[in-house]
Amino acid sequence: MMIRDDLYYFDALPDHPAPEPGEAATGYLSRLFALNDTDVPSDLTVPMPPKGRPIHVSRMRDMPPLSSRILEDLTVCSEERLRTTTFHHVVRKFLGPTTRSRSVKGFLGSSIAFTVRYCPHCLSDHRYYRLIWRFTAVTGCVEHKRLLMDRCGQCGKTLPLFAAHVPSGICPACRADLARWDGAAMAPDEQTALADRVADIEFLMTPHACEEGSGDTLRAIGAHFRHLREVNHLLPHEVYARLPITPLKSTRAIERGMLQRSLNTYIVYADFYGVTLRHLFTATPAEDVVPEATRRRQDRERATLHRIQRTLEDLTLPPILYSKTEAAEAVAAHLGISTSFLSCPGVADLFASYYRDHKVVP
Ligand SMILES: [Zn+2]
Ligand SMILES: [Zn+2]
Repeated sequence: MMIRDDLYYFDALPDHPAPEPGEAATGYLSRLFALNDTDVPSDLTVPMPPKGRPIHVSRMRDMPPLSSRILEDLTVCSEERLRTTTFHHVVRKFLGPTTRSRSVKGFLGSSIAFTVRYCPHCLSDHRYYRLIWRFTAVTGCVEHKRLLMDRCGQCGKTLPLFAAHVPSGICPACRADLARWDGAAMAPDEQTALADRVADIEFLMTPHACEEGSGDTLRAIGAHFRHLREVNHLLPHEVYARLPITPLKSTRAIERGMLQRSLNTYIVYADFYGVTLRHLFTATPAEDVVPEATRRRQDRERATLHRIQRTLEDLTLPPILYSKTEAAEAVAAHLGISTSFLSCPGVADLFASYYRDHKVVP
């Protein structure tokens, strides 16, 4: 492969198309260097303020801040445009303007994937990786009604976020074209819930006035949660016990506006009350519509039931070796939910019939 040795930091890459709408930073930079058939300079780093050591762009993984004159020069792209290819606006909404890279990683770490996830049909239409596919809460593609894939359909390997000299949409390990696969179809219930989820994440990734505010956003969100809990006639511990994951902090803590450890905690609370995240950021608690909230919660519970049912159908270990506890733990681990959620009425029915059909011993 030809390697250019005449590239300097103050040069723009000869071929430097702007990022595509929704494109992820790491995929974008990877794509640009592949397009130019150019090695990534070994000391091309991104600063990590306030005190963190700069890291190489190949390990930046779409994390903010992406402010680097060198990158701006190479890509001929503004700092603000480059920022929209990172998690900058998501983080800013929750953590405010003074964000340390360690806090950012902690907040996003358990809510995003660290290898490429993709919709093959989107890749077939447009050859680039989207930032929204990094969010594990986004399970599929609304447009093509397919679940996202998280590995190559040919060799089965996961795909690194940054791959030198490999064009987007190609498996770096076996060179298969990732746009060839069809992907698994989504159930209608899942599609309804996903459309809301995607709109929420897109809202989080877009600049909004609340990012310039005085830091009262989390308290305002907490006031919503408290109001929704009260109109649902629930006590804090009752909410906590019924959540599909076990947050590290109490329901009271989120209601007081204390920052939670992960983005997914906010998603779980919003789902529980049947409201969208964009509603929490843009409306007042007085505008919380309870009948609508209840309907949305039921929709989401139905979607979760469907996922549990599908997971049970896919369990492949010999049933005879499976105790009820092992079956429940396997399903909960697969879905990333707490085993306590599996004792909800509808879920218990699903498990009961699974145990019966597979003669699972207690
Ligand atoms: Zn798609
Ligand atoms: Zn492959």
